[in-house]
Amino acid sequence: MENFETAGFQQMSLFPSASEDPSRTDSTRHDKCGADPALCPKQDLRPPVRITWNLWHGCSRKVSPGCLHCYMYRRDEEYGKDPTNVHKTAAFNLPVRKYRSGQYKGMYRIPAGSTVYTCFTSDFFIDAADKWRPEAWDMMRRRPDCTFFMITKRPERILQSLPTDWGEGWGHVHISCTCENQHWTDRRLPIFLELPIRHKSITHEPMLEAIDIRKYLEKYGSARNPDNSRVLESVSCGGESGPEARVCDYGWVVNTHVQCVEYGVPFHFHQTGAKLRRSISDGQGGFLTKVFEIPREHQHTQAKKAGLDYGGVIEMPECLSSTDDLLPLEDPT
Ligand code: SF4
Repeated sequence: MENFETAGFQQMSLFPSASEDPSRTDSTRHDKCGADPALCPKQDLRPPVRITWNLWHGCSRKVSPGCLHCYMYRRDEEYGKDPTNVHKTAAFNLPVRKYRSGQYKGMYRIPAGSTVYTCFTSDFFIDAADKWRPEAWDMMRRRPDCTFFMITKRPERILQSLPTDWGEGWGHVHISCTCENQHWTDRRLPIFLELPIRHKSITHEPMLEAIDIRKYLEKYGSARNPDNSRVLESVSCGGESGPEARVCDYGWVVNTHVQCVEYGVPFHFHQTGAKLRRSISDGQGGFLTKVFEIPREHQHTQAKKAGLDYGGVIEMPECLSSTDDLLPLEDPT
């Protein structure tokens, strides 16, 4: 099982023990610097982190073929739980938890500048969470110093779920729409790309077939927000992970890469998935097609080695396709 650190996330404990909690070593720090603790100005020297925030868990129904091997369903069923039971988690108020004492007393436990990847064991826009979402928006409203990233298969529910002060989109919230095949691309993107979202992107994961998005790239690829930033920030492709993973054809990924280059839209090959099919030389001047089985720990690095990324660094959570990569949150009590 890949852990949080090897998955590329900075190791961080939000609920550190007494021995590792900087808030509990105040006197030692002041002994070192010689300052009077009462006069010492509060300074937050902690670096930003990348962290997941699963504020609710569960999904009432699988909505499209991309859901077939949903890792949340698989995990819950393995543990004898009902994955359709949508419930708030113990981490619900994670972004607004503060230190109660010590050097960082009164400061948020998640440092300023951090990126918070939201809802990876559910969907932020699921109807079962309508009653909790206003509070979730409020927590994000209180943390404009962090970036919140969410991925959804339910763009048709976004508009009705936005907060009243959303305007043309909050500058610190990024929403990506998942489109795993042509059918769902053509159902979701016409809705999603018209929404007032300040930072939006397209995710083809798990990519199940070749997908033509030229008409969307043509319309939105060079469109700009009033501040001259891109309306469509990026397109990302990835294969499927897990024991029952379906094949992802490398040619589909290259095809999307070519479309993005054609329209000047940043592209990212996020991960190969567990089974990547591609053509290789047969040694006799021809080609043969082979399916490569790629261990989980190499799926991101192999994708990166393909060299298909285009248009700059695109921040994507490496845990996108599997909770195997997630650090379980400690009990917040
Ligand atoms: S959590 Fe996401 S992937 Fe899983 S069934 Fe729900 S919509 Fe599909």
